[in-house]
Amino acid sequence: MGKKTTSEKTNNNPWERAKNQLKIAADKISLNEMLYQQLLNPDRIIEVSLPLKTQKGEIKVFSGYRVQHNNIRGPYKGGLRFHPNVDMDEVKALSFWMTMKNAVIDVPFGGGKGGITVDPKPLTEKELESLTRLFVRKIASVIGPNTDVPAPDVNTNPKIMGWIVDEYSKIVGKKTLAVVTGKPLDNGGSLGRTEATGLGGVYSLLNTLKKLGKNPKGMTVAIQGFGNVGIFLAKFLQKEGFIIVALSDSKGGLYIPNGIKDIDEVEKCKKEKGLLAGCYCIDSVCDLKNMKNLGGKSIDSEKVLTLPVDIVVPAALENSITKENAIDIKAKIILEMANGPTTSEADEILRKKNVTIIPDILANSGGVAVSYFEWYQNIHNEKWTKEEVFKKLKVKMEKSTEEVFKISKKYKCSLREAAYILALQRITKENK
Ligand code: NAD
Repeated sequence: MGKKTTSEKTNNNPWERAKNQLKIAADKISLNEMLYQQLLNPDRIIEVSLPLKTQKGEIKVFSGYRVQHNNIRGPYKGGLRFHPNVDMDEVKALSFWMTMKNAVIDVPFGGGKGGITVDPKPLTEKELESLTRLFVRKIASVIGPNTDVPAPDVNTNPKIMGWIVDEYSKIVGKKTLAVVTGKPLDNGGSLGRTEATGLGGVYSLLNTLKKLGKNPKGMTVAIQGFGNVGIFLAKFLQKEGFIIVALSDSKGGLYIPNGIKDIDEVEKCKKEKGLLAGCYCIDSVCDLKNMKNLGGKSIDSEKVLTLPVDIVVPAALENSITKENAIDIKAKIILEMANGPTTSEADEILRKKNVTIIPDILANSGGVAVSYFEWYQNIHNEKWTKEEVFKKLKVKMEKSTEEVFKISKKYKCSLREAAYILALQRITKENK
């Protein structure tokens, strides 16, 4: 890779991009200058050091972050990411996107985000638990059910949320379930939370297709990222009659032009092998030997985005759609399930190609919608059925998608700009 120019660096820096997105939408509606400045500068930035003694006796020091971006609409709310690329600018951008997303989906939360710069895979479970608990002790004074409520994100899960509840409850001397969402079901979690982000994306996509006058049945889909979001999205899309032709994770992918039949078997195979590549399943036998019979091909993780399909779904990390590959994207619809997957330059290229982008702050807001339902159930000591949760989620996703379309028509702008305008209008209303 050659040396990056300043404009490329800016374009690929998620925080710079987030600020730029804010400016475009703020200009369009002549946002109050004081509010603009508040949103341009996070309320509070926390960086902590996390020295961990490994089971082999080595001392390793990790960095942990929590950015509380804005709480005009309610407690700061957003996930925790454990990944080697986590840094302050990434966390700032993700926290800003949470403020916007929570306003778009209309839950009474502000935005926050956090993370630890760590590759959790080589850690033992005990080490991961110690690191998580240490992080909680360092940030306990600034989080809480009415202050700041973390949740899972990349490489974090219900088990980790359970450790957070336990450690936080010890510190405050009282079982406090509502301090995080995305918890295990037997420890205050909500039915439907695990599936929520993927299912929410499906609701938003179906609504969009209705608006565009397109029939979803038989539309082909390629998905990048086969984690919590990608797995459920694939399953729910298939139920609705979409054909999932390609999937990928960080180590590679599979492409079967006639459709990947059994996503459950592929998921099982990935769990057993630790990677998706080679998971060509016929009944419960999943291996490369089946590839020919299925008419499939192994492909690189990134290639998934440029296949000849109707819909492409980035469901992994930021900056997967760039000016380098946007030109080669053949899909006419992009469902952004990851946060910040499209760089500004790529956005412009895709706009010129007339590609409809369902923006991240709308497409993946189903996760935080059900996080709100979980928090609400904890506070009111209620337990909702999965059907109730999904029904409420559907209403929220459809309503927000409708609103975004309405604004995009009114301001003659992209769905992304419309989603930001909707968020800013809602924040303005609460800013007394
Ligand atoms: P996860 O850790 O469960 O899965 C991430 C997946 O992405 C893994 O399969 C990983 O192998 C894959 N991946 C990483 N780098 C890749 C690459 N270069 N190419 C292809 N695949 C790659 O995480 P998740 O919870 O599924 O989150 C995925 C995205 O969705 C993130 O951007 C996250 O911020 C966003 N998101 C998640 C939620 C949620 O509820 N979990 C809610 C909203 C948004």
